[in-house]
Amino acid sequence: MNFIQYFLKKTCNINGGIPEVLKYILVLPSVIVSSQVVSTVGTLFAISVLLIPLLGLSTGPVEDDNPPKPKVILPDEPQYKVAASDGKGTVTVSPDVVLAANPVTLTFVYTAGAEGIAVGGGVVCFVSNFWGWARPQITFPDRLGYVTVSCSNPKVGIDLIVDPASQAVYARIEKQPLQMGETLVFVYGDTQDGKFPYAKGRADIYAERDERFFFRVDGDGDGFYVPIGHQPYFQVLPGKPSKLIAYAPSRVYVGKTFEIALSVLDRANNLVESYDGKVKLKAVGSRVTLPTEVIFRPNDRGAVRVAVTANSPGIIVIEAFDASKKVESAISNPTVVAEINDEPLKLYWADLHGHSNYSDGTGVPEDYFRYARDVARLDVVALTDHDNWGYDSLSKSPKLQTQILDVVRKFHDPGKFVTIAGYEWTNWTYGHMHVLFAEENQTLVIPWNEPLGIDPETLWNTLGSRDCISTPHHTGGGPIPFYWKYYNPQFVPVVEITSVHGVSERIGHPQSIDSPVESGMVQSALARGYRLGIIGSGDTHDGHPGMKSISGGVSGLAGIYARELSREAIFEALRARRVYATTGCRSILRFHMSKTNMGGIAKLSKTDQSRQFTVNVLADSPIAEITIVKNNQNIASKSGDGVFMTWQWSDTEPAKSGDYYYVRIKQANNQWIYSSPIWIDLD
Ligand SMILES: [Zn+2]
Ligand SMILES: [Zn+2]
Repeated sequence: MNFIQYFLKKTCNINGGIPEVLKYILVLPSVIVSSQVVSTVGTLFAISVLLIPLLGLSTGPVEDDNPPKPKVILPDEPQYKVAASDGKGTVTVSPDVVLAANPVTLTFVYTAGAEGIAVGGGVVCFVSNFWGWARPQITFPDRLGYVTVSCSNPKVGIDLIVDPASQAVYARIEKQPLQMGETLVFVYGDTQDGKFPYAKGRADIYAERDERFFFRVDGDGDGFYVPIGHQPYFQVLPGKPSKLIAYAPSRVYVGKTFEIALSVLDRANNLVESYDGKVKLKAVGSRVTLPTEVIFRPNDRGAVRVAVTANSPGIIVIEAFDASKKVESAISNPTVVAEINDEPLKLYWADLHGHSNYSDGTGVPEDYFRYARDVARLDVVALTDHDNWGYDSLSKSPKLQTQILDVVRKFHDPGKFVTIAGYEWTNWTYGHMHVLFAEENQTLVIPWNEPLGIDPETLWNTLGSRDCISTPHHTGGGPIPFYWKYYNPQFVPVVEITSVHGVSERIGHPQSIDSPVESGMVQSALARGYRLGIIGSGDTHDGHPGMKSISGGVSGLAGIYARELSREAIFEALRARRVYATTGCRSILRFHMSKTNMGGIAKLSKTDQSRQFTVNVLADSPIAEITIVKNNQNIASKSGDGVFMTWQWSDTEPAKSGDYYYVRIKQANNQWIYSSPIWIDLD
């Protein structure tokens, strides 16, 4: 049974009225939170090559008295001299457009510059590691990814070497120097004029603008390869339209118009900008006014906004069908239609962690933000590229940092779409944190490896009085756990419990992160007494913020209860921990104890004072189980009953200062929801 069937079953029972549980969801935001306690507050490519094979390695448990060892040891900077001929010459590519996940032949022509290349020097081509390019090989002319390199002057002599780990093809000059104007032709996926059709390469599965294979040149033969000045770009286009996607706001008001986002994606969730079909719309639930048909035009570039007006209170979902029936239909996330807009807090959806091709992700920042706004219909998004990862390292390139800030500014539209500048502090000893700035002119402050041995304390000291937070992520395991000896409530109000890497709640979770380490789990941090709000983020590397990644089974989103859609209000809500995590679904959760909302601290005067907790859920799929977790123990649970549930539960045990309670919900479709905890303080 899907959401609509459940929804109809429930609403049929009530003869057109509003069921009790639904009434509760409709009025809930007036239970506000006045008692909230708010906290006051390339490097060289060699390194990235080194990191990638290490991702699958596990590390042992982290002990307090035994600080973790560096997971990646940086090589000493080699003391090479850059010769005049290093990095010189030009490269062109053809064709400049390929289809995602398709067989491909790409021809790169390197032309030597005035300085030429000495014997012993050469040119290296890195086939992109991101994501899904067939590995280059030079051994089997009839198999996938066969690469050839030929020289315009046969007397030069070429020695070819492939490094599979970095997907690099080195063409070394063997017999006589390569002179100005002479060429080396690299063919990736060389079928030798069609003789070996299976020798083609395979393109990245993700569509993206400005993809590159990266070229470096060693002009003098000392083994030091320098990037050429201009790397040739080509475009990776999406596949055929495969599915419609519809996202709606979680809460709207009677008589007010709101917008749903409709878009068309291929199988890998790439936006199909060329879609020009007709889509029919149908609303289920409350009465609404909406167009019954929408035509996608070229200017829409695959994504449209549709105005809808709600006419009666209740819940609605909207179904969207491609008129030609060639594209899978969509059901929007559930929307609550409330009578009046009088609640001080509103629910916003955010993805606060993701990457573009400015580090190890796919696509350019502009497309990342457009996807977040127009496809995923997020309210808030942050782009957090790695400080030191990728072909050009962000920490070494003020130009890339400025370009990111320009895009953050361009897309920021308070009240409609909030963008946040940030970066990922990719520390390979103590764990990763992404830094998010409330001010938009802030960029990378300090990378993880300068100085070497930097710990989280040094990061926080350096961030100083900047208006920002830093969020530990994939804390419970691979690629590296977080070392919870370090905590700073000013900079760490929330932790990312779920992302593409899996769930870091506890050992034994069915969607656990790889290489789980107990001391890194969120439960271990809570047991230390840390007061952390709980969020999920995508940590998307595929250019699809806010969407479940197909490169991993799990994802993450943050539900944020904020006063308005502005950077200031979002940061206030994060610091007040009025947040919850989902593994990607847009189910609505409220969890409170009397007037203390999730993330808050309830002050009790007596140990036997009653503590009644209320859980309200409106899920986008049937609920399997709701569990209340007290001090990391599952203390009460209730089986699911449809898509909306209200449950009240009282703790009768004597209260202790520091007790904490959070809610874990499992949906039948294997999506999970985690509230932030509520803490108890005794006077
Ligand atoms: Zn990370
Ligand atoms: Zn990341």
